[in-house]
Amino acid sequence: MNINTIATALGIDLDLINHGDLTVFSPIEGNPIGQVTTVSPQCMEQSIIAAEEAFVQWRQVPAPKRGELIRVFGQILRDNKEALGALVTLECGKIYQEGLGEVQEMIDICDFSVGLSRQLYGLTIASERLEHRMFESWQPMGPVGIISAFNFPVAVWAWNATLAIICGNSVLWKPSDKTPITAIACQTLLQKAIAIVADIPQGLSQLLIGGADVGERLVADKRIPVISATGSTAMGRAIAPVVAERFGRSILELGGNNAMIIAPSANLDMALRAIVFGAVGSAGQRCTTTRRLLIHNEIYASLVPALQRIYGQLTVGNPFLKETLVGPLIDKEAFDNMQYALKQAEYTGNNRVGGQRINIPDCNNGYYVAPALIEMPATAPMIQTETFAPILYLYPYTDLHEAIAQHNDVPQGLSSAIFTNDIRESEMFLSAVGSDCGIANVNIGTSGAEIGGAFGGEKETGGGRESGSDAWKGYMRRVTSTLNYSSELPLAQGIEFTF
Ligand code: NAD
Repeated sequence: MNINTIATALGIDLDLINHGDLTVFSPIEGNPIGQVTTVSPQCMEQSIIAAEEAFVQWRQVPAPKRGELIRVFGQILRDNKEALGALVTLECGKIYQEGLGEVQEMIDICDFSVGLSRQLYGLTIASERLEHRMFESWQPMGPVGIISAFNFPVAVWAWNATLAIICGNSVLWKPSDKTPITAIACQTLLQKAIAIVADIPQGLSQLLIGGADVGERLVADKRIPVISATGSTAMGRAIAPVVAERFGRSILELGGNNAMIIAPSANLDMALRAIVFGAVGSAGQRCTTTRRLLIHNEIYASLVPALQRIYGQLTVGNPFLKETLVGPLIDKEAFDNMQYALKQAEYTGNNRVGGQRINIPDCNNGYYVAPALIEMPATAPMIQTETFAPILYLYPYTDLHEAIAQHNDVPQGLSSAIFTNDIRESEMFLSAVGSDCGIANVNIGTSGAEIGGAFGGEKETGGGRESGSDAWKGYMRRVTSTLNYSSELPLAQGIEFTF
């Protein structure tokens, strides 16, 4: 797949991806595919001012009219799904099916946001005072800063941007510096929609390409009331105090360390499919990747060899090929991190399968690995950390209470699942004494969330929620109003104050 062919199909100005100070690599062959320009501090200042000006106009546009922009954008995405999906695959290395899935997720959130633009409902509240009406309404916030990770280079931006825009905000996007070309593509497609729909303010959506330093400037700027940041827990730990210090609002979507419990009554065929997709999908580079598997003792001896057999047959290779299930890691750093984790795991782990680098013809500079399985004691320190690579730790359990305690005994709290046909077990897993994660599934794996639910996790995953349900409230301010249509001025709580 040639970058210029895809870029031309998407209508990207080729100058934007062939000149600049930042070299962009495709993980497929590990070779450069473009040059892009990073934003200077002066351009950034201009962008923030333009975003403020756009906000002042946009907040006055009726929400259903704001939805019209996203409706048109959704249609443009439908028309460009294959090309954008291919670009996602080329730039971040996930298999083409997953590249297409990511664009579908953008289309889905556009549909959701269009509907929502007519449903930014407030609340009517009974007032204790005669002839008074109390109600809540929701108002736009201002420019929203979006910082995104390399592994979902387009969908995460769309989750944030479409909601922020229909809520009446402008957006400033700092994508990962590993995937700036997909960001340029998204911005180009949104600009197409902006050109079709009348009277959209110029600076409504802006792209700020650069590294962590660009993100740091965005985060520190008090003109940006909301920062939605997706990435590692280390990044969240760095930015959260900076946003808090200026009383901004942060929506944090950070690292996961997701586990699945396989109970004795589970349908093992279903469980195996979910485990393998969850653990090796996107080459283990999803925030929701399954990283730990707690298997009941009664089925441990049959499930583990079955899993090892499947791992031995997984097709690793060029993510554009139909038969490929596992594409490359993003870069050498990701490979080194994986090898470091595997080395550490040698001290406590047993019976490792996979983990080695695989040479793919014509992709010599890409970092391809055989996904790894390692049997581990539940107490091993390794299982506390997220290594962003396909490593799955296995350990047995005997009692579900004990399994849930082990399941929850990690710093992160994003996604979780149980496979069981026992209703008591599934209800317990979903109850107050069950999984402590933001996502808890039954007979479905940890990855592959639909956009309709609020997405996010607890503890070191950051506590943010994006995408569906009422996540839109994160991009708006709540106003509580009391309207007095009487000719008296009664005070709340019956307080007498006469003079
Ligand atoms: P990363 O933390 O290295 O970078 C993420 C983004 O943050 C990039 O745009 C980066 O430039 C920026 N950044 C880094 N340090 C910053 C700082 N100090 N100030 C401002 N911006 C800064 O993450 P990555 O390697 O791109 O992505 C992988 C990580 O992201 C994993 O931990 C994964 O679990 C997580 N992730 C989480 C979710 C979620 O929804 N919870 C989704 C996708 C990825």
